[in-house]
Order: sequence, then structure tokens, then C-alpha cells
Amino acid sequence: MELEQSCIFCKIVRQEVPAKRIAETENVLAFFDINPAAPTHILLIPKLHIASGNDLNLAHGPLLAEMILLATDLAKQQQIDGTGFRLVLNTGPAAGQSVDHIHLHLLGGREMGWPPG
Ligand code: AMP
Repeated sequence: MELEQSCIFCKIVRQEVPAKRIAETENVLAFFDINPAAPTHILLIPKLHIASGNDLNLAHGPLLAEMILLATDLAKQQQIDGTGFRLVLNTGPAAGQSVDHIHLHLLGGREMGWPPG
């Protein structure tokens, strides 16, 4: 509970911290990344706190589908569906997870290398 009180993304959900919101569904909020790594860089988060991908289980299936389908809708809306886009779920420190509330990155609008750095 204390973690949820101090979590920056929970604060965005509660509108205690401003964010440039672009869309929401019943369980998912989408907003622009404050430090964009691509011309289109949107974060999609569950409205309820889940710390990391390591905490996911089968019961989260519908929530994950909601996140991915909202991301693909936004890719169309942002007109990056044709050129291509990337969905990223950084999990854990070595992968670069810096906020302990799961977030799906929607990145597009530029060429991307593989493998990611
Ligand atoms: P990750 O490194 O995968 O944990 O991604 C965290 C992302 O959250 C980074 O791309 C940050 O730029 C972004 N971020 C952190 N704080 C905020 C905020 N207050 N509003 C929008 N994006 C944020």
C-alpha cells in the first residue's frame, strides 16, 4: 500500500502528478513518455499497481490484451502502423526498468535497430 502511495505512475492515475494523457480504457491508461526515445513514445499502464512483469500471471491475460490492443489502436491513430512500431516491456534492472509499475512502451516514427541496446 505504501508503495502504491509513492508510485509515480499510481500518482498519474490518481491525477496527483500531471501527464499528457492520450487514451484510457476501463483498466488501462496511456500517456506520452516525458523523455521520448522516438517521435512517438507512449506508455500504457494498468490503473492498478503491478510492480513488474515478474508479477504477472494467467489472471492478468485480459488486462494484457487490453494494454496491447489499446497500443495497436494508438499506433493506428498516430499513423505509425504502416511504417512499424515496437512494444516493449522492460522487466528488471538489467533490462532498464526504472519505474516499478509495469508499463508497455509504444515506440515508433523512426528506424529501430535489432537487437535493442
Ligand atoms: P523504463 O525504463 O522501461 O522503466 O521506462 C520508464 C519510462 O517512464 C521512461 O521512458 C521515462 O521517461 C518515463 N517516465 C518517468 N516518469 C514519467 C512521468 N512522470 N511522465 C511520463 N513518463 C515518465
